[in-house]
Amino acid sequence: MTDPKYRRILLKLSGEALLGEAPYGVDPGVLKRLAAEIHELVERGVQVALVIGGGNIFRGEGLAATGMDRVTADQMGMLATLLNALALQDALEQEAVFTRVMSAIKVNQVCESYIRRRAIRHLEKGRVVIFAAGIGNPFFTTDSAASLRAIEINADIMFKATKVDGVYSADPVKEPGAQRYQRLTYDEVLQRKLDVMDATAIVLCRDQNMPIMVFDITRPGGLRDVVEGRAIGTFVER
Ligand code: UDP
Repeated sequence: MTDPKYRRILLKLSGEALLGEAPYGVDPGVLKRLAAEIHELVERGVQVALVIGGGNIFRGEGLAATGMDRVTADQMGMLATLLNALALQDALEQEAVFTRVMSAIKVNQVCESYIRRRAIRHLEKGRVVIFAAGIGNPFFTTDSAASLRAIEINADIMFKATKVDGVYSADPVKEPGAQRYQRLTYDEVLQRKLDVMDATAIVLCRDQNMPIMVFDITRPGGLRDVVEGRAIGTFVER
């Protein structure tokens, strides 16, 4: 094993990453595997912060398309991320990893509220911090929350977990000839409208120079590989 390349990371997991084979909600097997992989990083001294999405339960945009008020729909989406955060916290605690959920919306009986200094203190003490409820405002996504939190906690890098091993010139499932980019600049992602994260999230990372690595979380060991600095996936930087 190579030494970890990064000291403090932010890992963005979409809600779908927790779905596994389940039709809805979370797959306990997937949660267990993710928790074990995160545990290994913590044991090796890496400070791990997570931002979790809610797309496996609710997405504001989808709900609004059915006629629901968009702000209410987004609030439901944010609360969905909290459900996922609690599931992940439970899986981590079953692995004996100290974990704190910090929500951008106050839910005092359930978890802590997000306070930057507190989050950093948790990380310094070796606790995994799960940021829930995005940034707490409608019309944003958890990708933007991930960029913002990564910058706020001075993470060395943001890892964007996906189901494919990086960013491709076209959808690799539909176009077998599509090529995987090893490295892209933020502006290339924006200009070519590549499916990495939404533009708000990319611009924030660009302006604050936060590197992004897009990698395949479905492959066991993939997280370890990227944290060790292996050139798999797609690196987005200046
Ligand atoms: N959301 C929001 N503000 C935020 C983050 C999320 O309103 O800061 C809502 C939004 O409706 C979004 C939903 O929460 O669709 C779930 O988040 P997201 O779609 O980013 O989840 P993912 O696609 O990563 O599973």
